[in-house]
Amino acid sequence: MLAKLRESINTILASGDMPTRRPALKAHNESNIPGLYIIGDLAGAPVIKLAMAQGFEVAQYIASRPDAKAGPATRDGVYDVLVVGAGAAGLNAALACHDRGLKVVVLEKGKLANTIEDFPENKWVYAEPDSNPPKGKLWLDGARKEDLVKRWHDIVTENKLEVRTEEGLKALQKKDGIFHLTSDKSEYRAKRVILATGQRGNPRKLKVAGEEQEHVYHRLYSPRHYHNEDILVVGGGNSAVEAALVLSEQNRVRISYRGSDFGRIFKDNERLLNQAVAEKRIELLFNSNVKEFGAKNATVEIDRGGSQERTTVPCDHAFVLVGAELPVKFLKSLGIRLENEWEGSLIRAVALSFLTLLGLWLLKGGQTTVPPLAGGLLSLGALAGLLAFGFRGDRYSWLGVSFLVWYAIYGIKSPGDGHEFWPFTGWGAKALSIFGRPVSFWYTVMYTALMTVFGVGAIKRWGLDRKDKFQIWRYASLLGFQWIFFFLIPEFLFQWAVKYQWVGAKLAEDPNFSQQAWRSYGVVYAWPLFFYTFFYNPHKIWIIWGVLLTFVIIPVGALFFGKRYCSWICGCGGLAETFGDRWRHLAPKGRTSIRWEWMNYVVLALAVVITVMMLAKDAWMVIAQPAERGLYYYHLYIDIWLVGILPVTLYPFLGGKVWCRYWCPLAKMMHMMSGLYTKLGISRFEIVANDKCIGCMECSRNCQVGIDVMSLALKQQPLNNAVSSCIGCGICVTVCPMDTLDFGDGKGLVQIKTMKPEMAHV
Ligand SMILES: Cc1cc2nc3c(=O)[nH]c(=O)nc-3n(C[C@H](O)[C@H](O)[C@H](O)COP(=O)(O)OP(=O)(O)OC[C@H]3O[C@@H](n4cnc5c(N)ncnc54)[C@H](O)[C@@H]3O)c2cc1C
Ligand code: SF4
Ligand code: SF4
Repeated sequence: MLAKLRESINTILASGDMPTRRPALKAHNESNIPGLYIIGDLAGAPVIKLAMAQGFEVAQYIASRPDAKAGPATRDGVYDVLVVGAGAAGLNAALACHDRGLKVVVLEKGKLANTIEDFPENKWVYAEPDSNPPKGKLWLDGARKEDLVKRWHDIVTENKLEVRTEEGLKALQKKDGIFHLTSDKSEYRAKRVILATGQRGNPRKLKVAGEEQEHVYHRLYSPRHYHNEDILVVGGGNSAVEAALVLSEQNRVRISYRGSDFGRIFKDNERLLNQAVAEKRIELLFNSNVKEFGAKNATVEIDRGGSQERTTVPCDHAFVLVGAELPVKFLKSLGIRLENEWEGSLIRAVALSFLTLLGLWLLKGGQTTVPPLAGGLLSLGALAGLLAFGFRGDRYSWLGVSFLVWYAIYGIKSPGDGHEFWPFTGWGAKALSIFGRPVSFWYTVMYTALMTVFGVGAIKRWGLDRKDKFQIWRYASLLGFQWIFFFLIPEFLFQWAVKYQWVGAKLAEDPNFSQQAWRSYGVVYAWPLFFYTFFYNPHKIWIIWGVLLTFVIIPVGALFFGKRYCSWICGCGGLAETFGDRWRHLAPKGRTSIRWEWMNYVVLALAVVITVMMLAKDAWMVIAQPAERGLYYYHLYIDIWLVGILPVTLYPFLGGKVWCRYWCPLAKMMHMMSGLYTKLGISRFEIVANDKCIGCMECSRNCQVGIDVMSLALKQQPLNNAVSSCIGCGICVTVCPMDTLDFGDGKGLVQIKTMKPEMAHV
């Protein structure tokens, strides 16, 4: 049981970056090694045009630096920029550096434009997305791969760009501000390095016996070369299916795929595949794993509903097309850090976090035999230890620091509820009640300030930089609701409305109304998120509004907008969307992470039970005590731990939406309503896809609730709350480089953004 739990947790922790794993990058694509930039496929640019754009922009940035050129002391033999990889990104970056007067060299382990050279013969190369003109000097338009590569050779020659082919980078070290690089032929020194090595040179392997034989390939170059042979294609993606289709024109083809259906292929490929299967040109072996490749056959294990059956299939040639892997070993050997690496020691982080708190307790006289100064030093020392290990790459230490910050904030925040946590008991809230304002006021100030600062950043990132009005409005709405409804009204306007009788003399003089400013959070927060609207003798105005909001406005809103409340209005979602925005791609993904969304049901059920008990307790005294205890524990564990401490602690590790996705009962309520409306065919909320998806995964990577948007996009299936917990933030629509996605009208209408028919073969 414990082992299973640990396995689930590990799967969730690792899932944030599994299919979309990347090096950890800062602004301008700079890696953890200052002066080393990573671009192109390796940095997540999904197509040639975007890889070229990244190359151009990074080169422009480097050239704009005052120290772009190696100084006179180091100038001799030191390149200003050394580019590794002569693909779309690397060549475009090098040309832009060269144009700006920088001394630049390109190292390429294969041929110039090696990845494109390796495309199947005569493949048409698409220059998508159409909406972006190509940036930089490298030529790009729809063309046969042979013509494209020739144009690139010409451009390199015309510009006298120094490209050293058949010379791969082996090692790199930075000493005294200069990079020392070793290739398999020579040694170089450079002020800056641009790594543009792509991922295609690192095909994923099955790691089974016989895979190294000559007739087992990891790419398809000349499909016409094979006639009347038995061919086994392994894989379930577009490359595998496209290879099988073209090979099946002249051969007998089988596809071995470990899944039970082709969930990720283009709709067009699905249609052609069904046709080929019906014509018996292709045989499908679902739920199968290749165990061994022999000289003329392959052993395949097929899962037949729990029982494993081994069979041998004829195989003159095999094509293992199961994708490419991030070259983790290579990147690590260069000292490059990857996103979301759980390195370090959990036990050490827990111990140091505890010692930090223990030191605080001693400092405040918790134990009279120990001098307070010793406590202070212990606390500082332990915190410094956490930070030092954190800076050395220990992710658990950062988790400890993050926990301490949010535990302290919430541990100090609610003394009035009897929830001032150890070691802050008796002094924390007092110490932070400055300028005559309670600590809860300063908490709201800090919350609003965090949202504003990071919200402005998010408006720039998603709205202004991408010219996306939807995102500008969305973030303006989140900030507006935070400022007006969760800060100005509860902290100032409500009191003024009472003082100056804006609400009428009757209400202003009613202590049941006027002395409960905190209830004004219920203007926007519906039950069961704002749990208290109906408890502790609310004025009837709050009861009427609470019922209207929860049982009329929210359900009607869910009909038209699904769960957009979470991404346009709510303050909890607001902090996640702003302060948590930079970590959105770390949201857990995959089936296990979705299964764990069951926790929402539990919190919702608890909220219902406690509400019923609290409402019934006056009429039925026997439940009064259990109801009060239930409410006390709900407040402590749900409102403080699950809304406050844990999710915000986890922002930098699992993205911003832990509370909203896994625990929020209101989100679950809206999810159930919107899902039901979809099933009844009356929902107006959905995301639709046209036929331009290239499977780049950008949408899935950036979805903060871990939805595999790409799978639905590839099949052009509408994405709604019957199939997902989408909150309508629209980030997937914004990031899609192909303009594939858009909001629909609930009728499954696919947007009319047609593409060239050939695009389906990318
Ligand atoms: C089958 C297929 C079809 C595709 N079709 C299209 C299409 O039609 N249109 C489109 O826009 N995109 C297409 N793509 C995607 C496109 O290929 C990539 O987006 C693009 O090549 C990325 O460019 P890059 O420069 O980042 O990487 P790459 O083009 O992969 O270039 C990386 C270069 O680095 C070199 N290298 C690797 N390691 C080292 C080392 N240690 N030292 C020196 N050099 C090294 C490699 O040899 C390679 O030349 C397709 C991809 C595949 C696999
Ligand atoms: S699917 Fe798209 S709109 Fe829905 S939550 Fe994910 S990123 Fe946001
Ligand atoms: S729908 Fe998703 S996977 Fe497809 S092109 Fe757009 S971002 Fe990439």
